[in-house]
Order: sequence, then structure tokens, then C-alpha cells
Amino acid sequence: MAPELYTLIAFLVITVAYLIHRVWVGGHDFRKYFGKMLVTCPETHETVAVKVASGRAAVASMIGKEHVELSNCTRWPEKADCDQACLNELKADPENHQVWTIASKWYVGKDCFFCHRPISELSHLDHSPGVVGPDGKIIEWDEVPPEKLPETLASAQPVCWNCNVVESFWQQHPDMVIQRPWKH
Ligand SMILES: [Zn+2]
Repeated sequence: MAPELYTLIAFLVITVAYLIHRVWVGGHDFRKYFGKMLVTCPETHETVAVKVASGRAAVASMIGKEHVELSNCTRWPEKADCDQACLNELKADPENHQVWTIASKWYVGKDCFFCHRPISELSHLDHSPGVVGPDGKIIEWDEVPPEKLPETLASAQPVCWNCNVVESFWQQHPDMVIQRPWKH
């Protein structure tokens, strides 16, 4: 390999390392805008699920700027040309608008509706716990449409992952209920 090529590779490696450093250690932490977020639509006053354009936020963060713009909303594409006035509410307290944070906080200190064991802290690496609604239907929390999550959690009970699997199975196979000895 020509020495110029080594120099070019070294330059690229240093540039990439510098940009990564700016993104992750920079003053504008765009990670607080990761994932689906819930916000009250200023027009309808209803909860909507939105997503911030993370690519643009990351690029802006590299040059030390903050750029927050939506890349999706439950009201889109019909309302894709809206003025994104909800961003004011979002920017004021991004973490508490993240769907993940809302669900995590809800599970804190709660016990499973079925086995009464404490529900472990939410983790991106673990299976998701579930919720059981007033109708008795069990569903994993992240399968609830995000914009319906606050409303669902308000009337639901928490279900640990193990009970989620077991109880969902019995719900889907009621014919096998006779083989469920611990219920008797
Ligand atoms: Zn349980």
C-alpha cells in the first residue's frame, strides 16, 4: 500500500473517532429523543405518538448544535405539513415523553397480577412484561399502540414475563385448561 493511502486511512479513522466523540460526549445529547415519544397534539389535545428524526439530530450534534424535528407522527401522512408545535412540549422534558420511560416508571414497585412477585426493572435486553386489561386480555406492554399506552396503563394490571407466557397460552388454548393442576 502506498504511504499516502496509510495517511488517508489514518485521517479517516481520526475523523470518524472525533465525530463519534462529538455525538456521544457532545453538549447536545440527542439520545434523549430516541424511540417513540408521546406528546399532546396542540391541535386536537389528544395523545399522539411521534418520532424525532434521529439522523438529523445526530448530524447537528456533531457540529455542536441541537436540531429537533419530527420524522413521524400518528396523525401523518394526513397532517405531515403541520407546524410541529408539539416540539415545544417535547423539548421541555424529552425523557419523560419517551414511551420507554413512561412504561418503565409505571412498572416500578409493582407486583405481578398473577404470581404477586415484584416485576423486574425494564431492560432492552430482557423480554417485555405485560399488562392485563379489565377485559382479562393479556398483552406485552410494547404491543400496545403507543398513543393508547397511558390510557391502557391507567386501567391495567402488570403481568411478569413468565405469567405473560403461561397465562397467554391458557387464554389461547382454553381446551387444555383441565391440565392446569395448580389452579385446583
Ligand atoms: Zn407473574
